[in-house]
Amino acid sequence: MKFVDEFREPGVIGKACGEIRRLADPNRHYRFMEVCGGHTHAIYRFGLKDLLPPNIELVHGPGCPVCVLPMGRIDDGLSIGKDPDVIFTAFGDMMRVPGTQGSPLEHKARGMDVRIVYSPSDALELAKKNPGKHVMFFAIGFETTAPSTALILMRARALGLHNFSVFCNHVTIIPAIRAILDSPDMRIDAFIGPGHVSTVIGCRPYDWIARNEGKPIVVAGFEPVDVLQSIVMLLEQLNKGEAKVENQYKRVVPWEGNHAALKAMGEVFELRPYFEWRGMGFISQSALKIRSAYAEWDAESRFHVPGVRVTDPKAAQCGEVLKGVLKPAQCKLFGKECTPERPVGALMVSSEGSCAAYFNYEHRKNAVLTSIGA
Ligand code: SF4
Repeated sequence: MKFVDEFREPGVIGKACGEIRRLADPNRHYRFMEVCGGHTHAIYRFGLKDLLPPNIELVHGPGCPVCVLPMGRIDDGLSIGKDPDVIFTAFGDMMRVPGTQGSPLEHKARGMDVRIVYSPSDALELAKKNPGKHVMFFAIGFETTAPSTALILMRARALGLHNFSVFCNHVTIIPAIRAILDSPDMRIDAFIGPGHVSTVIGCRPYDWIARNEGKPIVVAGFEPVDVLQSIVMLLEQLNKGEAKVENQYKRVVPWEGNHAALKAMGEVFELRPYFEWRGMGFISQSALKIRSAYAEWDAESRFHVPGVRVTDPKAAQCGEVLKGVLKPAQCKLFGKECTPERPVGALMVSSEGSCAAYFNYEHRKNAVLTSIGA
């Protein structure tokens, strides 16, 4: 496949692995955090972990927006959907995420009007076609998806479409990285920076990680060669005693970000003073709120939202996995009470969740190897 095959070419992968072995100090243990869930999936899907020397440990970060959403926010969104005049819409990723009374799909089975959309504009179109109903879009995502929500709110206002609103759960990546670096039980040597988010925010917002924290960060793409090359670049920095921001994903990520997308976000959103993250508690200025000029399309202004706070089931260790303190298989529920078919936590549901990635690739691979006695 054009533009993909070259980043999966075995010869290039072999060369990158050789370079990593040459650069890695055998007397040192490296801990690199891949911030983005997309990287976690690439690492397990392509078996990249097995290609690395054992002293390079990849730590999974908080870059899965579905995973970091606390259960209370899901309950809050579903409480709006209980209104018989409301059509609850969300991306497919959200549909199986458990709230305290079940997932959106389980609510649908009980009669709630829940529909999967592939973009916010699908939700807007649904509102146009159903003037007698109110269509609420459960918006989720980092800066990657926030611009499309902003544009759709601008469109709804321009059209004067009053039967449409957004329940905004957009979060921002920088405060989450800061919270991880502030965490006393966390030692990270360097970061594989998020590729998708950076297409919007660019590379500059990571400057402080290098300058103030002395940690190298390389924004990386999602193919095997991208991830391995970013590890080469991190090792080169560490060997030279440097800490800077580098962009491995130049074919997609502009250094200065996407001005049009940032402008749309600035027009529609402001920062919330605080927002709760699953397992990480309240993080200041870490999420987006719809500005008062768009209050008519803000579900939190139009509907009563109970503001539910719910702790995860006691045995679930989603928070520790999200912070990179535990690996997915170290959660007591992994592969037993919690599987992709019967998820307890969002990390086992989302296409970017580290538990789902570990289960679908590593866990199944190990099961096959065990079954053939390998
Ligand atoms: S295995 Fe399930 S409960 Fe445990 S951390 Fe993963 S998603 Fe959460």
